[in-house]
Amino acid sequence: MKSMVILGSTGSIGTQALDVARLRNFTVKALTSNSNIDLLEKQIREFKPEIAAVADESRAAELRIKVADTDTKVLGGEEGICAAAQLDADKVLNSIVGIAGLKPTLAAIEAGNDIALANKETLVTGGELVTTRAKEKGVAILPVDSEHSAIFQSLQGSPGKQSVKRLILTASGGPFFGRTRDDLKDVTVEQALKHPNWSMGAKISVDSATMMNKGLEFIEAMHLFGVTPDDIQVLIHPESVVHSMVELLDGTVIAQLGVPDMRVPIQYALTYPERYESPAKQLRLEDWKTLTFEQPDYDTFSCINLCRQAITKGGVYPAAANGANEAANKLFRDGKIKFLDIADAVSGVLDSCLLYTSPSPRDTR
Ligand code: NAD
Ligand code: MG
Repeated sequence: MKSMVILGSTGSIGTQALDVARLRNFTVKALTSNSNIDLLEKQIREFKPEIAAVADESRAAELRIKVADTDTKVLGGEEGICAAAQLDADKVLNSIVGIAGLKPTLAAIEAGNDIALANKETLVTGGELVTTRAKEKGVAILPVDSEHSAIFQSLQGSPGKQSVKRLILTASGGPFFGRTRDDLKDVTVEQALKHPNWSMGAKISVDSATMMNKGLEFIEAMHLFGVTPDDIQVLIHPESVVHSMVELLDGTVIAQLGVPDMRVPIQYALTYPERYESPAKQLRLEDWKTLTFEQPDYDTFSCINLCRQAITKGGVYPAAANGANEAANKLFRDGKIKFLDIADAVSGVLDSCLLYTSPSPRDTR
């Protein structure tokens, strides 16, 4: 692995991916952002990519002027981001947030580029489309999400799907673990953004607080590993040391453990199957002494089961659940709705959704 493209380079995963690129001396061929051109300019000056793309066209025009003295070509809009995804590179890391990541993933696949995928919404909204096309084009999709990286790693060495009993997806429980529905009525955005173990972008932090994140990851796991809803168990593990597990037919459980540092799964997705030193701290189990696991509170954190219902129904249901969540998550962060309204929005949209079993771009209703 020598060259890469980073989509969403100004975000939490994107900047950590640049830490890895710096450490491993990767050539960074393209960098992209929604609108954060100040940080993108700094990144351009350090990494000297061929292309920088900004989704917001007017910000792209501003950046073009700012970096006119460099050799980097600045593109704008979704087309610009997709063009970055299609550059000739060993890997495209997709760390865009939300469904905005779907088209660039498809563009990378069309160009035959292997993908390190952080953008879980790609698989939640376009799972079948993406995995089918990736298979046809011989493109590898390597998980960056820590749980899916853990499952991917735990599966290595097992002879195949027939030897796997189930996947055990761990969840920290987020900042509101142990609270009742009543406790959550008036929680603030600031409280929701305070994740106990991980430092992440705003959208996924709120998704962790509602546990929609685990619901999205449930769907992501089904597409990545070709399993059914009954093959996945969710377990709360507040210490975030065991990043997920695989139970095999003979009762053996294989887990991947480590400190919560996204640079580990990011690097592994980029260098797979090779392993290298990483900047993460060493895991010291003797400091933990005890690791705990328990069942989720599905009544208080209803988003997990809403996602499970959505993927069980199939068709456009998962995309509808994702869309409702993206909108409601943003409205909550903007102070326009309350925390519990997010799950209600997802549930309401699923109730009024029509079943399209194989949505195509021509379905416009
Ligand atoms: P973030 O908000 O910190 O960064 C998002 C990036 O996407 C930014 O560079 C932003 O400019 C870009 N972006 C936003 N909207 C865009 C649009 N419409 N078009 C093009 N680019 C756009 O988010 P993050 O926390 O880094 O998360 C990124 C993805 O990785 C999400 O799908 C998230 O669920 C997933 N993920 C994140 C973490 C984490 O630790 N942060 C862990 C696992 C998975
Ligand atoms: Mg995760």
